[in-house]
Amino acid sequence: MDATSDLPAALRDDRKHVFHSWSAQRNLAPLLITRAEGSRFWDDDGREYLDFTSQLVNLNLGHQHPRLVSAIKQQAERICTIAPSVASDVRSEAARLIASHAPDGMNRVFFTNGGAEAVEYATRMARTHTGRSKVLSAYRSYHGSTAGAISLTGEWRRLANEPGVPGAVKFWGPYLYRSPFNSTSPDQERERALAHLERTLIAEGPEHVAAVLVETVVGTNGVLPPPDGYLAGVRALCDEHGVLLICDEVMAGFGRCAEWFAVDRWNVRPDLIAFAKGVNSGYVPLGGVLIADHVAASFDDVAFAGGLTYSGHPLACAVAAESVRVFEDEHILEHVRSLDTDVIAPTLHSLHEDHPSIGEVRGLGVFWAIEFVTNRAQRTAADSAAMSALAAALRQRGVWPMVVENRLHIVPPCTMRAETLQDGLARISEAIGATTDLMV
Ligand code: PLP
Repeated sequence: MDATSDLPAALRDDRKHVFHSWSAQRNLAPLLITRAEGSRFWDDDGREYLDFTSQLVNLNLGHQHPRLVSAIKQQAERICTIAPSVASDVRSEAARLIASHAPDGMNRVFFTNGGAEAVEYATRMARTHTGRSKVLSAYRSYHGSTAGAISLTGEWRRLANEPGVPGAVKFWGPYLYRSPFNSTSPDQERERALAHLERTLIAEGPEHVAAVLVETVVGTNGVLPPPDGYLAGVRALCDEHGVLLICDEVMAGFGRCAEWFAVDRWNVRPDLIAFAKGVNSGYVPLGGVLIADHVAASFDDVAFAGGLTYSGHPLACAVAAESVRVFEDEHILEHVRSLDTDVIAPTLHSLHEDHPSIGEVRGLGVFWAIEFVTNRAQRTAADSAAMSALAAALRQRGVWPMVVENRLHIVPPCTMRAETLQDGLARISEAIGATTDLMV
């Protein structure tokens, strides 16, 4: 008998016909989600989960926000799709609203369908603007899965996709807990990371380098807020050598770090910002590039050699414009700040004190990671068996977890209520006590 015959039709068809990302397909057993609202969703057995992942860290305004759903419906009744070469009121509105919250002097938006394309187009603009070919990016990074973006990605997912596009050069960014520079303080880590980046830049020939690409806060690869002064140091190095600074805020932007853009936290002005995910919480796929005026000007009289059929898709832009208005009207940034300072930061620091298997907690806004170890002094990373046990214990307790390597990422929607967050963190503490603590 067919092994899938007892499954509901949706799962049977999934197993037979859907090819899933980043996975060997044979033993996949995805959860079937049938309902979602705010910070919760339910499976086909009616089991409730608190969404501590924001799906793929994109659902910043939570599931089924009524204003976002209504914006899609209204736009669908008016115009579902239109070519990028004509003007569209919702596209213009989305671009104006996004630019209104961007760092000064970034007034133009090129829309894409997602984050990888945003990185592709930002680097293409940098290459055309400077007439140089190389782009420097960090080993600890994820920038997307298209050909250029996966070549610029530093982590393991790049390796199976090599050889990649030419001109993608890597460097090490700051990560004090596991310092590539043997640093013992944030100041030392900042200085050593900047000196290393400068050496890399000079060795590559700055006259060949179009851009330095950084995740403002490294996301999937650890949730690593940079030491204060690091981004300003990168900016200064770029200026010294005529290199553009591209900040990838696909994950870090739109409230995740309690700012419109994470660079606001450190008052740094990039030349290009890649965004996606939180721009409209992924209700309709959308990404884009925010372009500084001086970069945009180089395409005033020379054509930009790039485009997409769905650039500035009206359904995606309608929900992006409404998202920005929801952020403003519902004071989302203020809410994230209070979740951070009143709930997440104090609770995670006390979890660190209570649980011997926690090596470090770090983060900002609603963008945190708990790093698990089997030996605190030696910082030995917890293994995949321990992390699988933790993930299972969390799912059993109704918390949908994001586990990456030896870390649990705490990335709830920006709209999660303080009581819900506290409740979820209490369940997390219980699950840690029942699993990883026993393996120390
Ligand atoms: N850049 C960063 C920092 C990301 O976290 C991601 C996705 O997780 C991407 C780019 C790629 O975005 P997308 O999956 O929308 O192509």
